[in-house]
Amino acid sequence: MTAHVLVVNAGSSSLKYSLVDADTGVALATGLVERIGEESGGSHTHTGPDGTKHREDRQCRSHEEALRTAVDAFGRIGPSLTETPITAVGHRVVHGGARFADPVVVDDQVLAAVADLVPLAPLHNPANLEGLTVARRLFPDLPHVAVFDTAFHQTIPPRAYTYAVPLAWRDEHRIRRYGFHGTSHQFVSGEAARMLGRDPAEVNVIVLHLGNGASATAVRAGESVDTSMGLTPLEGLVMGTRSGDIDPALHAHLARQFGWTLEQIDTALNRDSGLKGIAGQNDFREVVRLRAEGDPAAELAFDVYAYRIRKYVGAYYAVLGSVDAIVFTAGVGEHNPDLREAALAGLDRLGIRLDLERNRGEVDGPTLVSPAGADVAVLVIPTNEEWEIARQTLTALGR
Ligand code: ADP
Repeated sequence: MTAHVLVVNAGSSSLKYSLVDADTGVALATGLVERIGEESGGSHTHTGPDGTKHREDRQCRSHEEALRTAVDAFGRIGPSLTETPITAVGHRVVHGGARFADPVVVDDQVLAAVADLVPLAPLHNPANLEGLTVARRLFPDLPHVAVFDTAFHQTIPPRAYTYAVPLAWRDEHRIRRYGFHGTSHQFVSGEAARMLGRDPAEVNVIVLHLGNGASATAVRAGESVDTSMGLTPLEGLVMGTRSGDIDPALHAHLARQFGWTLEQIDTALNRDSGLKGIAGQNDFREVVRLRAEGDPAAELAFDVYAYRIRKYVGAYYAVLGSVDAIVFTAGVGEHNPDLREAALAGLDRLGIRLDLERNRGEVDGPTLVSPAGADVAVLVIPTNEEWEIARQTLTALGR
């Protein structure tokens, strides 16, 4: 029988959900409740089986109210949960620390462990915990599974996850690299092996997940061996509003020279940096538009963004020794051929080439954009984190 997994992604003021057919990955419904707990501007969108997006103004006071609103929409708009019963609920949880390398069936102990990890993900884990708690209250008879964004990266060896910092920091405060976007990297690297018609255990892949957040992962034989995000999602590639790699002494410099607080610096690096910091726009489409008009700041932002990707491709090529595929995924990776060209140009000696025509062609589903027979296949593969969460939810339930 087909299993339908309700995938829940609870943010601090939002709740995203999707009812996924775990066999096909098709979403029978998707929805988003925004500005939960805020004064005004709340909204709810629900897209049912016919693909029509229903939007209403809706101020939800709590995540519980938000989830009830979603359940109500299934009744009003569809699909009916009586006719399409939910098999299980899969929760996206950002931080699983060093404790969770796999998805787990949620019980009180798991909730306590997620709470224990709040210091490592102070913005995300409390919201995820709230999502888990209210969903268990609303669906007490269904199994709930937590799928961690960090889990796929738990195979990264100590030489790659260790920061060269004092022992006490690492031992007592769990300071190390964890990595994020794990479900996406796992899904996409698996799809890459499938596209190449090979066993995942035989292929090495560099995955470039370029969305609002962005990260690169080196995948050897189906396992993550290095990734660009670290203790937090700030490290690594240039993102929409995050700086990515910077000199770690920058905080001290700004604090000493200008008296800025850690809070101000942290906010600026996470929210006002990246593409937004350089071009004034965090949306890549806007950067592309301004660049086409000859805006020098947008040109620089594009350059810095592409150059950082190229550096990580080189680094992960060296980490893996040999590379079978480079995969572009998420909003920017899937939709911007110029960026793919800029990031990979001139790497022929590494066996990396694009077929310029294919790269510029329509990308609708997994697409090969390198010449046939090239040493390294360059692929564009739409990510589907919800499907991966649905599949992992069933795996955790032994189905
Ligand atoms: P998230 O990380 O929130 O899942 P997405 O994967 O949707 O984000 O990626 C969002 C980014 O993708 C934005 O910067 C957006 O501008 C960019 N993007 C989306 N569509 C296109 C497109 N057609 N061309 C260029 N960039 C795009």
